[in-house]
Amino acid sequence: MVVKNLNGHAIPPCGCGSWLSHWRRCGKPSEAFSRRQSCSVVVCNNPIEQGGMVQKEVLEGMRALGMVGDASWYIVPLCRECNGRWGATLTVEDGCGLASARVEETCGVGVMGDPTTQGT
Ligand SMILES: [Zn+2]
Ligand SMILES: [Zn+2]
Repeated sequence: MVVKNLNGHAIPPCGCGSWLSHWRRCGKPSEAFSRRQSCSVVVCNNPIEQGGMVQKEVLEGMRALGMVGDASWYIVPLCRECNGRWGATLTVEDGCGLASARVEETCGVGVMGDPTTQGT
């Protein structure tokens, strides 16, 4: 899976304390990935240190097949080095179990109000 590292636009973490703990609570990594215990970037073997904020990248060829970009933000477990590569395109393990950064869909302990319930 190809994602774009958006950490340069980092937003304050939810009530989980850090985005890495948010991923540990709300991410759904595969068994193989859980055993691996290292940065989700395929070619990287550093230990997991930080939760990285990413968007799914839609490649040109995929767009031709009618796939559209997913504007949602996700959290993947990264090492400090990969997380520091702002704006970089990262190829991460499919089983890394990215967690949605939308707290109302996951841990529900965000500090901001839930915009989807306004006006009801
Ligand atoms: Zn959280
Ligand atoms: Zn890494």
